Amino acid sequence: AKPNGPGTYLYFDAAMNRQAARSLQIHNELHHAMGLGALQVYYQPQIRIATGAVVGFEALLRWQHPTLGWISPAEFIPVAEQSGIIVQIGHWVMHTAATQAAQWLAQGHSGFRMAVNLSARQFAAKDLPKLVAQVLQDTGLPPEVLELEVTESMALQSVASTLSTLHACKALGVKLAMDDFGTGYSSLAYLKQYPLDALKIDQAFVRNITQDPGDAAITRAIVAMAHSFGMTVIAEGVETVEQLEFLRGLQCEEFQGYLFSKPVPADEAVKCFAGYRG
Ligand code: C2E
Ligand code: CA
Ligand code: CA
Ligand code: CA
Repeated sequence: AKPNGPGTYLYFDAAMNRQAARSLQIHNELHHAMGLGALQVYYQPQIRIATGAVVGFEALLRWQHPTLGWISPAEFIPVAEQSGIIVQIGHWVMHTAATQAAQWLAQGHSGFRMAVNLSARQFAAKDLPKLVAQVLQDTGLPPEVLELEVTESMALQSVASTLSTLHACKALGVKLAMDDFGTGYSSLAYLKQYPLDALKIDQAFVRNITQDPGDAAITRAIVAMAHSFGMTVIAEGVETVEQLEFLRGLQCEEFQGYLFSKPVPADEAVKCFAGYRG
């Protein structure tokens, strides 16, 4: 705040108090939200650029609060991460998404993965591979259909433990993707060792890809590097045909974004299997 007189500070304090009160409310009510069915999982399709076929979905949390309205995961995930309840919520998301994927398979859909975001706490928990195995067993989902999204910041904690966790998950047969790639600080030397199937290019690079030569160069370099490591590349936040065509030119394999679909409830997501037709 600029020192424009005492009023400025008063206003600032009030705003901070409101923010703190809201965080506290979110913290307190998150525990009940799951049981009340206020948390929902939405699904956003991922498309193979060359064919327009839907090859995956990302499971994304939604919270419809009775008085605060719709709360973004960008706001409540950090609160859940801090309190630790993210571990339960994250497990519930994985179970829900895996159940949904198994149902779609049973209905005759195929050739898709179901991607689930892992939080730092879930990733750091010793029993993660056991929990993943349990979800696969409970839902009957073939392991290769499940994809776990990790971020660079998690991988940074300790290289040795990151490697052993990734390998333990990989041994179950699930797929692994590095989310938000390019926004963190992971060393390329470590990246090479991680048993990843895919890299997701953050929407921060995709947003200006057709105008900003720097973002285009970074994206081109990420795609080339991923391919040299045998990884698939998924571009996030694709909103325009121009962005899609640019990515096609870079040999990026898959995209996800509003151009095709926002994250939607399962009954709408299933219609996406029809695919993307320019
Ligand atoms: P993320 O994993 O990077 O997910 C992608 C975000 O980009 C989603 O935001 C998605 O709705 C949004 N998005 C997709 N396409 C477009 C587009 O074309 N344009 C724009 N502007 N945005 C697009 P969302 O659903 O609000 O989720 C925000 C973040 O919350 C996620 O970022 C993820 O970090 C976290 N999150 C969501 N669900 C979960 C969960 O179940 N577990 C954990 N640990 N984190 C989650
Ligand atoms: Ca993600
Ligand atoms: Ca992402
Ligand atoms: Ca993100």
